[in-house]
Amino acid sequence: MAPERPSDPVLAALGQWFGFDAFHAGQRDVIDDVLAGRPTVAVMPTGAGKSLCYQLPALLLEGVAVVVSPLIALMKDQVDSLQARGIPADFVNSSQSQDDQRAVIDRMLGGELKLVYVAPERFRQTTFVRALRQVPLSLFAVDEAHCISRWGHDFRPDYTRLGEVIEALRPPRVLACTATATPEVRTDIHGVLGLADPAIHIAGFLRENLFLESRLCGGDKDRERRLASFLKSPEGSDGAIILYASTRKRVDQFARICRQIVGAHDVVAYHGGMDDAERSDAQDRFMRGEARIAVATNAFGMGVDRADVRAVVHVDLPRTVEGYYQEVGRAGRDGAPARCLLLHNPTDTRVHEFLIDRSHPTPEVLGEVWRLLHEAGPEASVYQSDLEAHLASADLDGMVEPALRQLSRIDAAWFDGTAWRAAAGAPADPAELGLDFDRIALHRDHEYQKLGLMRRFVQEPGCRHAFILHYFGEAAPAVCPGCDRCHREDSVGGVPGLVHGEPDEAELLTLRKALAGAARAEGRFGLRKVAAMLAGKRTRALEGSSLLQLSTFGILAPLHPDACAELLKVLVDQGLCRMAGSEYPLLEITREGWEVMQGRATPSFRPPPHLVPGSPLGKRVQLLRSGGGSRAATAETPAIDADPEIVEALRGFRAGLARDRGVPPYVIFNDRSLFALAAQPPDTEAAFLAVPGLGPGKWASFGPALLDALAPFSD
Ligand code: ADP
Ligand code: MG
Repeated sequence: MAPERPSDPVLAALGQWFGFDAFHAGQRDVIDDVLAGRPTVAVMPTGAGKSLCYQLPALLLEGVAVVVSPLIALMKDQVDSLQARGIPADFVNSSQSQDDQRAVIDRMLGGELKLVYVAPERFRQTTFVRALRQVPLSLFAVDEAHCISRWGHDFRPDYTRLGEVIEALRPPRVLACTATATPEVRTDIHGVLGLADPAIHIAGFLRENLFLESRLCGGDKDRERRLASFLKSPEGSDGAIILYASTRKRVDQFARICRQIVGAHDVVAYHGGMDDAERSDAQDRFMRGEARIAVATNAFGMGVDRADVRAVVHVDLPRTVEGYYQEVGRAGRDGAPARCLLLHNPTDTRVHEFLIDRSHPTPEVLGEVWRLLHEAGPEASVYQSDLEAHLASADLDGMVEPALRQLSRIDAAWFDGTAWRAAAGAPADPAELGLDFDRIALHRDHEYQKLGLMRRFVQEPGCRHAFILHYFGEAAPAVCPGCDRCHREDSVGGVPGLVHGEPDEAELLTLRKALAGAARAEGRFGLRKVAAMLAGKRTRALEGSSLLQLSTFGILAPLHPDACAELLKVLVDQGLCRMAGSEYPLLEITREGWEVMQGRATPSFRPPPHLVPGSPLGKRVQLLRSGGGSRAATAETPAIDADPEIVEALRGFRAGLARDRGVPPYVIFNDRSLFALAAQPPDTEAAFLAVPGLGPGKWASFGPALLDALAPFSD
C-alpha cells in the first residue's frame, strides 16, 4: 500500500464517510483513475471492496452517480448501509410503488441524492432516461459487470443495452466492476460498454493465508483415506471445515465418513435435495459453531459468513477455476492461516461433462419441446414435468429445462409462475424462431474449455497461487505464500515424507526410472498399469499388453505396484506427469518430466523414502510384504536394474516349477527374489543363498536347476 499523506482529500473522505483508515489492495488506483475521468474496469474478488470504488468518488464529485446493479436485494443492502452512514443514496426499482419511485426521482432531480441505484431494466423506461438527462451525472457505475457477457452464468440481456444508455447519457465517468474476469468476459465488458482505452485494474485475488494443495487420488477409498488422515492431523482435527462434493449422493457419502471420524454431532450435510427447513437448520448449526464440519454441494456458501473456517476440502474436481477459488475463498476470512485441500481424480470430469452436455440442448430437443408447446397453443399451460416425462424415454428429460430457458430467452415461451406457455403468434417451425444453435454449441465448448483449465490447475507444474492469479489476469506474487508445490514440507494432503529440496542420487534415479516408464508407456495406459509395469508385476490387466515387453518392465522392483502407483501420483502432483482423457485417463509425461528424465533438469522435491527402492524405509515395506523375516532383513539392498530378458527367463522357470508342483509361483520364490536374481544372476550356491528370500531349503529344492537356467546370462 502506498504511503498516504495526511492532507490527502481522498483518504480523508474515506475516514470521514466510512470510518476506514486505509484502502484495500487496488481500491486507490481505481478511485484515482475514476476521479481523473478515465473509463475504468475494476476486477477484484468478492469482498475486496468494489462498491467503495464508486461510492467514494460519488461523494467527492459534483452531481449524482448512477449505479447499475442486477439484484434488488443487493441494492437494498448497499443503500441501507449508505443511509446508515448519513450518505444521501436511494434506489429506484420495481419493489417500490409508483409513488415511491416518483419521489426518489424527484429527489434526484432536486439534487438531493449523491447515488441512485437502478436495475438495468429501468433504462427501458424512456421517462426515467429523460429524467437522468436533466441532472448532472458524476459517474455511471456498472456493478457485477460480468452480467454483460453471454459467456457467464449470470448473463442479463438488459445489461447488453447499457452501451446505448451510456451513449445517450454521456456521463463524464464510467466504472465497471466485477469479480469474474476471464479474458472473454473482460473483452465483452469493454465492447458492450463502448469504453475507449479503459484503465483495467485487477487486484486483490491473492489470498496469502490460504495454503493451496491438490492431490491426485485413486478410487474413492483413496480419497476417504486421505480425508481421514487429514481430519486426524493437527490441521484437520480442530476448527471449522467446509467439505465440497459434486453431487448430493457424494455429499451423503462423505458426510457419513466424516461422522465416523469426528462424531455425528459435529457434522452437517447440505444440498439441494433437502427441504428448506433442513437446509437452513444445517447452515445455522454450522454458523453458530455447533457443528464443526459442513459437507455440501456448491449450493452451500452464498450466505456463509463464518470467518473462522480453517479448511476447505474438495473431494471432487470443481468445474471451473472461478468456482474453486470462490469456494476455497470461504476459508480463512479472519486472515489466519487456512488449508485448501483438493482431492481429485481425472474421471471426476465425467460428471461435469455430462452436466455441461445436458445444459446445452440439442436442436432436436429444442425442436421437440417447441413442437409440444406450440401445439398446446398460447392459452394452454404446459408443465415442465410433463415435458420431461415425454422426453424421458429417450433419456433427454434433463435437457428440457435448458431448452425452456433458451426459448424464454428469445421470448418464444414464458413461465406463468407455475407452467410454461408458447408466445402468441410465434411460428410453428423452430427454425424460424431465431434460436442461435451455433451460439449454444459455442457456449458448450466454452464450458469445456473452462473445465480443461480446472484440470490444468491440478496438473500443470508451478506455483498454485501463481496459476490462479494468472487465470484472473493479476501479476503473480514474487514469493508464494503457501502451496504444495512451493512448500512441500507443509503439505497435509500429500504423501508423508515428500519434502522440498534436491533429491539425492538414489532418489533422483528413482524419479528418472519412474519417468522413463511413463515415457515408454507413451500415454497409452492408465496409471495403475504403468505402476504394475514399473514394479514388474504381471497383473491380469497387463496380460497380452505391450507393457510387458518394455525395457522399463520391473525397473522399480522390488517396489510394490501400490508404491509405484503412489510414486506416479507424486509425479502428477508435482507436474512431471499428467493424466490425459477422462473416460479412460491415461498417464503421460510432461515436458518438465522429460527434462528431468533426460537429466537436463533436477526436480526441487525429494520423494518419500518409502517410495525409493533401496532406501531403509523402502526396504522395510518390502519385508513386511514378503514376510521374509530376518534373512531378508540382512540382505543386500535390492538392485533395481533388472534385464527384462532375465526377468522373463526367471518367470518362465518359476512358472514351470509352480505348475509341476501345483503351487502358486510366489511359493517358489517371490518377485523380490526374482528381481534380485535378475540383477545379479548367481553362479554358485553361496551367491544363491545371498539372494533375499532364498535359503538352503530352496537350494535343495531347485537351486542347481536355477543356476542352469541362468547360466546363459551370468558373466
Ligand atoms: P465487493 O463488492 O468487492 O464484493 P464490497 O464492496 O461489498 O465488496 O465490500 C466488502 C466489505 O469490505 C464491506 O463490508 C465494506 O464496507 C468493506 N470495505 C471496503 N473497503 C474497505 C476498506 N478500505 N477498509 C475496510 N473495509 C472496507
Ligand atoms: Mg459487490
